[in-house]
Amino acid sequence: MCVCSNTTSRRQSGIRIVIVGYGPGGAAAAVSARMFNSEAEIMIITDETYESHRKPGAAMALEFPDTGDLKIEDWSFDALSKNRIEILSDTAVTGGDSKSKTLKLDNSKTLEFDKLILATGGIPAVPEIPGTTLPGVYTIQTMADTSEIGKQLSKMNSIVVVGAGFSGLETAERLISLGKEVHLVVRSRLMRKQLEEPMSAELLTRLPDKLNVNTGVSPTALLGGKKAEGILLDNEPLGADAVIFMTGVRPNTMLAESLGIQIGSLGGIVIDETMMTSINGIFAVGDCVEMKDPLTNEPILLPIASVAARAGRQAGVTAAGRSKVYDNLLRRLQYDHIFNTDIVVIGHSSVSANALGVKTNVQYVEYPTEFAKVALVLTEDGRLIGGQIIASRMGARLGYEILDRVERGAFLKDTPLLRPRHERFREYIESTFGPIR
Ligand SMILES: Cc1cc2nc3c(=O)[nH]c(=O)nc-3n(C[C@H](O)[C@H](O)[C@H](O)COP(=O)(O)OP(=O)(O)OC[C@H]3O[C@@H](n4cnc5c(N)ncnc54)[C@H](O)[C@@H]3O)c2cc1C
Repeated sequence: MCVCSNTTSRRQSGIRIVIVGYGPGGAAAAVSARMFNSEAEIMIITDETYESHRKPGAAMALEFPDTGDLKIEDWSFDALSKNRIEILSDTAVTGGDSKSKTLKLDNSKTLEFDKLILATGGIPAVPEIPGTTLPGVYTIQTMADTSEIGKQLSKMNSIVVVGAGFSGLETAERLISLGKEVHLVVRSRLMRKQLEEPMSAELLTRLPDKLNVNTGVSPTALLGGKKAEGILLDNEPLGADAVIFMTGVRPNTMLAESLGIQIGSLGGIVIDETMMTSINGIFAVGDCVEMKDPLTNEPILLPIASVAARAGRQAGVTAAGRSKVYDNLLRRLQYDHIFNTDIVVIGHSSVSANALGVKTNVQYVEYPTEFAKVALVLTEDGRLIGGQIIASRMGARLGYEILDRVERGAFLKDTPLLRPRHERFREYIESTFGPIR
């Protein structure tokens, strides 16, 4: 159902909050707006037909296309409509006018809003090389992309995955468990922006032999005339039936630009601490915005679901007319269990901190009994600003300890990490009975 018309109409009572985008940012914004305003008319518009907040599980859906587990119950179509949040799916917003507070829809209708939240996400950042539009070249940005790859999978034996961040590794893992020959292309090293060099090396040792890892190479062109037949890596051919680019996203600001909203130096929408854009009453959250790094106040791009959801909650509150400003909007926590390995990334790495001019010291801790290696990223004066864990287990527990200290701005010397129970028990036994061999 659509509450819009060819001639725009005002509502009878309450304000109308319109949210464009139904990823984690848009879904969280809608739920929090409803929580803080029971009267408002709240509507989500999305050009997708899937419940698109499931995107962080999109690679998983390659292997389990019908799984409902990827759904966050509170954000499902059903839960939202029970909460009187209307969803207009399969509908794109093609433009708008911030003065008359109207949006243009692709069905040529116009929709009025009182408050607008843009949660338009990112656009896959595919390298500009010849052949990326050939059939057989894919990105995974939506559940529809996954579904499209799924339809062609039976014809693919060997697949190249370009990009070794979380989603590239996840995609490679799923394809291997489907029995495919997988080639992972890594420009420099695994998860270069998130992991210290020794942590990348540790992760590399834990990848299965079945995964063909090509490090230190960049794609220069796709192979094939009518469809992709592989890829040139620094001019060396690598044959394959399909190529999937998992090379990150850039902010999708098309709608924001058409509304005259300020775009920042990194190409994302500029927002304040309440998620308001340069135009009063219009908010933006998620992969389409530039956040402010709490350490330096410099703009940063953080295309991760946890940040989008927390920012969405903030935008929903403000759009609903409340003045609350949440702390820790920038919870930078990424956790995944890939190839039987916990990978946890919290806060800054030395790469991301140094890029903002912050000098760092990195300490490494090994917990052999837990098969874990930890990197602790500290400022020069010893404040913990980030951490990374590569572990067979215990990643979540250690991760919690690091996250807690990073969010409190703690100094490691004042609040050292707890050692795992096994280690402490060993120490106790050794102090009682002598060294254990
Ligand atoms: C395969 C994959 C795995 C990932 N795994 C993780 C993970 O494990 N953990 C994690 O933290 N992050 C993960 N991410 C990143 C995470 O999914 C994103 O950071 C998050 O989805 C961003 O949320 P968002 O609300 O900003 O935008 P999105 O989720 O991108 O949603 C934006 C929505 O807006 C719609 N839209 C845009 N413009 C318009 C328009 N004009 N009209 C109508 N609709 C429009 C889009 O179609 C889309 O539905 C993953 C990403 C991918 C691709």
